[in-house]
Amino acid sequence: MQDWTIRCDVLVVGSGGGALTGAYTAAANGFSTIVLEKTTLFGGTSAYSGAAVWLPGTAVQERAGIGDSTEKARTYLRALLGDVDVERQEAYLTTAPAVVDFLESDPNIEFEWRPFPDYYQAPGRMDSGRAINPLDLPSAEIGDLRELVRPEPNLDRAGKPQPDATLIGGRALIGRLLLALQGTGRADLRTRTAARQILTEGDRVVGVEALTATGEILRIRAERGVLLAAGGIEGNAELRGANRTPGRARWSMGPQGANTGDLIRAAVDVGADTALLDEAWWCPGIEMPDGSGAFMVGVRGGILVDTSGNRYLNESLPYDQFGRAMIARGSDAAIPSYLVFDSSEGGPTLPAISIPQATAEEHFDAGTWVSADTIEELAMKIGVPADTLLHTVERFNDHAKRGVDEDFHRGEDPYDAFFCRPGADLPNAALKPIATGPYHAARIILSDLGTKGGVRTDADARVLRKDGTAIEGLYAAGNTSASLSGKVYPGPGVPLGTAMAFSYRAALHMMG
Ligand SMILES: Cc1cc2nc3c(=O)[nH]c(=O)nc-3n(C[C@H](O)[C@H](O)[C@H](O)COP(=O)(O)OP(=O)(O)OC[C@H]3O[C@@H](n4cnc5c(N)ncnc54)[C@H](O)[C@@H]3O)c2cc1C
Repeated sequence: MQDWTIRCDVLVVGSGGGALTGAYTAAANGFSTIVLEKTTLFGGTSAYSGAAVWLPGTAVQERAGIGDSTEKARTYLRALLGDVDVERQEAYLTTAPAVVDFLESDPNIEFEWRPFPDYYQAPGRMDSGRAINPLDLPSAEIGDLRELVRPEPNLDRAGKPQPDATLIGGRALIGRLLLALQGTGRADLRTRTAARQILTEGDRVVGVEALTATGEILRIRAERGVLLAAGGIEGNAELRGANRTPGRARWSMGPQGANTGDLIRAAVDVGADTALLDEAWWCPGIEMPDGSGAFMVGVRGGILVDTSGNRYLNESLPYDQFGRAMIARGSDAAIPSYLVFDSSEGGPTLPAISIPQATAEEHFDAGTWVSADTIEELAMKIGVPADTLLHTVERFNDHAKRGVDEDFHRGEDPYDAFFCRPGADLPNAALKPIATGPYHAARIILSDLGTKGGVRTDADARVLRKDGTAIEGLYAAGNTSASLSGKVYPGPGVPLGTAMAFSYRAALHMMG
């Protein structure tokens, strides 16, 4: 006999895009639903995100008239992922239109298509992209809930709240889902409450034990099921070490202290199998003055060199492939690497997007960036052979002049030019010569947008044991589950898209 503090139909642990989609699905269908969030704010990494959601072939792409379809997306996914986990691939693809229709049936939720190319050259690719985004959310519409939404990384890391301004990106997604959940009248949304143990009766999961910030222990019974959508292990140095996950907890983009694999551990304690724990949604990171990492995306200039002073990748690669190239080069040679750039944008302006940002001055003071009047002097400052760096820059400049990167094919893929500013005198917008001194170098480390390994799940997001049987009553989605995309990041919005589709399926399965 368990001594229960609270009872509900559906219990959701975590409050990212997946968690709130699952919670909304249950609550909107008449089931009492509790959401537990460990930190003081809702949204997790999902709130930091750009909120591109890779849910293909939906009414949103249809409205935009871009020619996307489930069939086209199937061709693309299958080309990238092969015949692995086909049942889950199918579940993802066929659920996408349904989950979007269902979410858009709530007056608080609406999506639109925004261009952002798929990440691989493969059959079925959309060069202009197929990801959808939630509409921006005016501050007046969200009201007091605004203060509970995790703000963008610049503000969050500085301990500042969500400002009284239109919520965009991941903040709009989380804000809209919270509004929809609130509107059901059946959702109990709790912050500062950390789930720490999964409770069972016989072979069935029946609830969780959670600890509140005030030290109260809650034993919550969930009649229909428990959905774990509490992020990955990105913020847990010990678990990263044990699983040989490249990179560091300090460099990850997960909100600090949030995603420490608590529910992956708890699920293993009740028999869950795990996979892909050394995998993440990789990205290059700009080393910040305080030693943390900032997501570097949209490189539009400069070159990346390793500790030998040589280039080793196409700097315009989609960020996950960029991170994978760093890992393949090896941590001794490539972590840190250096982004070498010039002053052609007017002073030490990093030719890339940095999320969050520090000023150039802060970087120079901390030594994470250095400057010099010549390439040779810059090489000395970053400790790479001067003649090699000079040769690397001269060779790249020659390629830029001719518009062809003979070494790494930068500028040949539609993605490469997406963030570049076309220059009238440049034959290839992705290849800008490094020719205007002074020259600068920024330390680049390996970061991630969350790990993507976790508990193994089936097409209904049911958590599986080693023998392939499902643990009754237990579901997982998002980065708590091993991603169906394996070692590939097919396109913008796959982390959120899969999290939302499988959380939706989990809720449907729980409801029978
Ligand atoms: C700058 C940036 C931009 C990005 N842009 C995109 C994009 O456009 N599209 C896309 O698909 N992906 C994007 N990503 C990646 C994506 O945001 C994440 O991989 C994804 O949101 C993770 O979702 P999740 O639900 O697994 O975890 P999260 O969204 O991190 O949610 C997990 C939540 O669980 C809570 N939690 C953890 N442990 C417990 C516990 N014991 N009890 C209760 N709660 C707990 C955490 O505090 C957290 O709030 C981006 C990431 C970043 C950093």
